[in-house]
Formats: sequence, C-alpha cells, structure tokens
Amino acid sequence: MHKLTKTDFIQLLNCPQSLWLLKNKPEAYKEYEAEFSLFLQKLIREGYEVEEYVTQMFKDVKDLEQLPTNKSLSVINSPGFYSQVALETSEGVYARLDLVESLGDKVIDIYEIKSSTSIKKDKRHNHLKDIAFQKYVAQQNGLTVRDVIHVHLNKEFIKDGAITPEHLLVLENVNDAVVEIYDATCEEIKIGTDFINQDSISEHACDCLDKTSSNHCDTFRYFNRDIPTHSIYDLQRINQKKILELRELTVSDITDIPTEYKLSPYQELQQLSLQRGEPIIDKQEVKDALSKLTFPLYFFDYETLPFAVPRVNGYGPHQHTPVQFSLHILEKNGSLEHREYLAQMLEGPEKLLLKMQEYIGTTGSLVSWYASFEISKNREMKELYPEFASFLTDINNRTFDLMDPFRKDYVDAKFHGSNSIKSVLPVLVPELSYKDLEIQGGTMAVDAAERLYDMTDPNEIQEIRKAMLAYCELDTLAMVKIYQKLLEI
Ligand code: SF4
Repeated sequence: MHKLTKTDFIQLLNCPQSLWLLKNKPEAYKEYEAEFSLFLQKLIREGYEVEEYVTQMFKDVKDLEQLPTNKSLSVINSPGFYSQVALETSEGVYARLDLVESLGDKVIDIYEIKSSTSIKKDKRHNHLKDIAFQKYVAQQNGLTVRDVIHVHLNKEFIKDGAITPEHLLVLENVNDAVVEIYDATCEEIKIGTDFINQDSISEHACDCLDKTSSNHCDTFRYFNRDIPTHSIYDLQRINQKKILELRELTVSDITDIPTEYKLSPYQELQQLSLQRGEPIIDKQEVKDALSKLTFPLYFFDYETLPFAVPRVNGYGPHQHTPVQFSLHILEKNGSLEHREYLAQMLEGPEKLLLKMQEYIGTTGSLVSWYASFEISKNREMKELYPEFASFLTDINNRTFDLMDPFRKDYVDAKFHGSNSIKSVLPVLVPELSYKDLEIQGGTMAVDAAERLYDMTDPNEIQEIRKAMLAYCELDTLAMVKIYQKLLEI
C-alpha cells in the first residue's frame, strides 16, 4: 500500500497520473523530474524557518518530531502546544501537523504554517485543501478538530533589527472555509488512495495534451512519447483554444499546421524557421538595436536571494536581496575582462554597490538579459540606499536588454518558443554549456546561495562559492558570446 502524504495530496489534485508514476515507478519519474524537487525542498526549508518564529510566539511548545507516527496521540492528550505531530490512518494517509494545540479530551486546534504572504487557494498551492487533509487524518485517529488556523507571513513586514513574531506573522482562523470543503476533500482522499494503489494505469497520452505547456508537468514527455520535437506546444504564447483547434485538425507538429490557419506573427516565424531549417532574422532591426550600444560594454548579471523571512534590514518577506554579480567588460578593441563579487556574509548590498561603482565606468552600456530584473533591483536599492541613487539611476539609463532582439527580430524554431538565455545559448553558442557546471539553473543557484549563508564548514563554503561564481560568470560570458554572434549576422 502506498502512503499518501500532504504533498502527495496536492500533487494528486493537480494530476493523479504524475503521482501514480511517482509512487509506482519512481525511477522513471526521477528521469523526467527537473528542478521541481529543489523548489519543494526550498518550500519545506522556508516552512521550518517560519515555524521557528511561530514557536517563539507560543510558550512551551513540545517538539514531537522524534516520536514515531501515531505515538504522539497519547502525548497530546495533555493540554498544551505540540509541534511536528505525525499521524497516519489505517489506509496510509499520513500528515505531519506543524503545530497543534491540545485542549484536552482529544480536542485540538490545528495551526498550519506557511511561508507565503497570503492564504493560497490556487490549484498548485491549495492551502485550504492542505488543512482539510490534516483535519481528515486527525479525525480518523479519533481527535476532534475544533479550529484551524492558517499562519503566514505579513506582507507589510519590513525587517528593522530583531524580528518579533507578532509583527512578522499573521494568524487567520479558516475554520468555516475548511468546513465547507471538508466532505469533498474526504472523497478526494478516498479516490486518490485507490488510484495510486492501482497496479496499472494508461501510460500513453495524458490530459495535458489539451492544455498549454505552462500546465504540463515534468513528466509530459513520459506520458506523450510520440509528441514531435517541434510540437504545437512550443508555439510561443499559444492559448488553449488554439491547442484544441489544432488537435481537432489532428496536428501536433508545427510543420503540419495548414497555411490558412491563423498564427501570431511570432508563431508564423517559428513555423517558417522550421520549414527553412534556419533562423528567421530581421538583420537590419538587429543591427539598429546593437548600434545603440556604446563601448565599453558591461555585461552584467545579479544573483539575488528571496528569503521568506527577511534577513537583511530594509527588506520584506520574499523580497530579493542582491548578494552577487558577474561583470564582463568588453572594450572596442575586443579585450575582455571579468569582474565578480559574492558577499562573504549576509548583509545589506552596500559592499556590492561599492564594487560595482569601482568596476563600472561613467560611460558605456550595461547589457543584461531580461534587464527589467536588474533595473527593478537597482530601483529598490536606490530607495534603500540613497547615497547610491545617482549611480543606480545612471546605470539603469544605460542598460540594454540583450533579450530584445530575440523578441521578434531573431526567431529560431530551435528556441522552442522561448527567449530565455538558457534556450538561446545552446543554439547560438553550443560550445558553451551550463551542463558541465555544478549549478545549472536559477533554482539551483538560489538553493546554493540560501545554503551558503547557513554553512559553517570552510571546505563546504569554499566549494559552494566556487560553484556559484562559476554559474554567474557563465551567465555574463554567455551574453558576450551571443552578442558577438549577433554581430556576425
Ligand atoms: S503533463 Fe499534465 S496530465 Fe500529464 S502527467 Fe503531467 S500534469 Fe499530469
């Protein structure tokens, strides 16, 4: 019998097939799983971080983490607060309750702790279903749940010295909302446990064939192996209506879309690129855009940390704190220098800004990819550190987004409808790859940085710093190489 945990249940609500695969063929699931598990680990880590403040709020919280499942039932008979209460039903439905207040006589209140700044009710993070799931497990074990309280971060909170839990946290009683969905949730749990314990399901074609790629999970290609390399799901910004229309026409390959079928201008270029087997480039537009740049060129990229509980004064929950940058400086004569910075300790970005001032001269263009991110961080820092305001305003005014030419003037079907640097680089500069690096993507970079500032072992610190520096350096080197390729067209 497979266990059904809280996390499983939310995945089940999103897609029973993917959960079935995870439970019944974990090796196959792992092969397709991308950065999602890192993302989940981050959420769990953040949850623990918030929990520390919650336990400060309530006196004498007894941590039951070490107790075997269901052993806590007798302990929580005595009134008081208990954290990490592990319970399981006879059908293998399992929940570890963040915080419970026992009122005696098997009556409890459940506190669900989240690192979000609101109660999320969307499909992917349905907090109310999550709580109803815990209520089910508790009630199946003979407990009566009197109240359920959602604890989350206060979105207005700004760190200014030591954090007081009362200012950081918001407690909302969501009992009525949970009562409303409770019966339906019990039914879903029942259907879900039956489903994941089935010996087999159809592993050919899943429901997402009718949806856009933003709905697909990592295992889309496992369930839909005959989807061509350049499928209709790659068409940039395609909506579900068009997916359904094309499926009705039995079209799955972009090249098979009939000429009379209306596509957006970008999608038409994707199709044309595929038919011709080459990129479709408006050379004049690309040249005109690049001609606006002035040397030296500063290829620039920040890495930031979006801590759930802010650790730097002036920042709020999940607000990105810049901790690192990479800078490649390209002179008109072709000489290239690299400069970088990675904060030694977690602190405000003043030292980072001083280094930027040292390396970035008063003339020349800054070049970033998806530059609105760098620009928005500069704007935030301008407010927080007015002494750097004129420098930050100046560099924002000199910033060019290297992604711009790829919005419509340089379209290659091999980008698969994306204009992220991770999609463009392997096509334009295949010899330069993130695959050889220890950190290969944004989620991994954030994960590494969050761990870095809690590490104590000097060897581990050195290793992770090396990996972070290499990743950020490649981001700006990739821009230099892409820029040089654009000059050749
Ligand atoms: S692609 Fe969609 S339907 Fe298919 S397994 Fe993933 S979430 Fe489920």
